[in-house]
Amino acid sequence: MRRLFTIGEALIDFIPAEKGKKLKDINAFEPQVGGAPANVAATYAILGGESHLLTQLGTDAFGDRILELLESKGVHTNYITRTRRANTGLAFVSLDDTGNRDFSFYRNPSADLLYDASATSGIEFGKNDLLHFCSVDLVESAMKETHRTVIGKVREAQGTVIFDPNIRLPLWDDEDECREAVLEFMRFADIVKVSDEELEFITGIENESDAISALFTDYVKAVIYTKGPAGSQIIYREGGYCEHPGYVVETIDTTGAGDAFIGAMLYQLSLSTHSAIEILRENGPEVLRFANGVGALSTTKKGAITSLPTHEAVATFLKKG
Ligand code: ATP
Repeated sequence: MRRLFTIGEALIDFIPAEKGKKLKDINAFEPQVGGAPANVAATYAILGGESHLLTQLGTDAFGDRILELLESKGVHTNYITRTRRANTGLAFVSLDDTGNRDFSFYRNPSADLLYDASATSGIEFGKNDLLHFCSVDLVESAMKETHRTVIGKVREAQGTVIFDPNIRLPLWDDEDECREAVLEFMRFADIVKVSDEELEFITGIENESDAISALFTDYVKAVIYTKGPAGSQIIYREGGYCEHPGYVVETIDTTGAGDAFIGAMLYQLSLSTHSAIEILRENGPEVLRFANGVGALSTTKKGAITSLPTHEAVATFLKKG
């Protein structure tokens, strides 16, 4: 079984108790453990895989809450450090009537951004390992440097690097700074996941297929393109693509749908000894069907991790669909 390492933020998402209001008008929030790398690691573990989250938490109660939930879901937490120098990151979220979000982040800096590469020095990466990262923790910080170190080690070991930009503009001084960081780190990835909402921002290209072609830089061999309720596609560097139309469900909260999707996709890659790219090539439609099922189911409950379905629940859902 392939190990998954995810690196980046683990934080508390404050989800509004009521939908359809602007962030400034919301009176009550519910704390939910989140942060894309935490969500992806949790998805992979809940489905039955071995995942490790590389991050740092404060010594505060929110850090305790995150650690407890991740451990209860089976995520390995050996490389999670704690610090008194900063608090655990917080994100306040508003949801409109269709479940889409707006964010306000509290991290100046948060504990995750102070994560030092020395915390990862004991990891021996191998060619079967998967490494997933996003752009939220690529702002100037010790954590950004730790990304460089860990990505470098995984590439050296011939593991597979997956980049899901997961753009959150409020975190950056300006859009160009965000785009530059995304393009700089995309160069190290074998697989890139982008959503329809991010594609034009990242590439500056309006035409969808031209924009996707522009993502095939350096090592990138496959692009995973997600389109919310309209499902997803895999586009291959050497040409061709496959797609799945997604599922119609009663959506309550889309927070973490993309993370559930990619966590489920990576779990599918863990089930074979073939290389990750070979599996995407040989079994793309089935990989997408499963990942879309997990992504869709995750939107039917509140929260990013508490909404994740078990393997049995996904199997039952897919049988019906
Ligand atoms: P997020 O940033 O919310 O985590 P994302 O923007 O990265 O998500 P999306 O394209 O919104 O990614 O969603 C990923 C996958 O989740 C979709 O391809 C689809 O399979 C599933 N999904 C998302 N939203 C819905 C929805 N409203 N109904 C059904 N499936 C959905």
